[in-house]
Amino acid sequence: MALKTLEDALIDELKDLLSAEQQIAKALPKMAKAATNPDLKAGFLQHLEETKGHVDRLKQAFELMGKAARAKTCEAAKGLIKEGEEVIEEDAEPHVKDAFLIAAGQKVEHYEIASYGTVCAWANITGHKDVAKLLHLTLEEEKATDVRLTALSDNLNSEAKAT
Ligand code: FE
Ligand code: FE
Repeated sequence: MALKTLEDALIDELKDLLSAEQQIAKALPKMAKAATNPDLKAGFLQHLEETKGHVDRLKQAFELMGKAARAKTCEAAKGLIKEGEEVIEEDAEPHVKDAFLIAAGQKVEHYEIASYGTVCAWANITGHKDVAKLLHLTLEEEKATDVRLTALSDNLNSEAKAT
């Protein structure tokens, strides 16, 4: 299908995001399992629950636009998650591994923040205000997760330095 309009681009990007969120939902339990710090573990699990909601919102967005909710493999998420899995396999001190897991998580969040920023802007421009409003909720959750990970990273790193 040729992408002729910004609305076509929006739908294409939503398919990419649906794939990304589905991949992230699969990866987060592994990240939680690999984390040592209990707050980090809990943080990954909390974001897993949010991520399930992100998948649902994307499906709702397709419905609002009268389109079938179809995922299109997000290669970027695939790569970021692969890097995260390499971190999980790494033979590292627990606090070092936690620092790496936070870094991997933040890379994913930043990718999502960029993508949701884009789809919200495109949805607004193409007159799909309801879609923009819905996905803006997800954008805010991704941003909050990023902030939480930064705070955790500050705590962990200063604890590690003190020992
Ligand atoms: Fe998400
Ligand atoms: Fe996220």
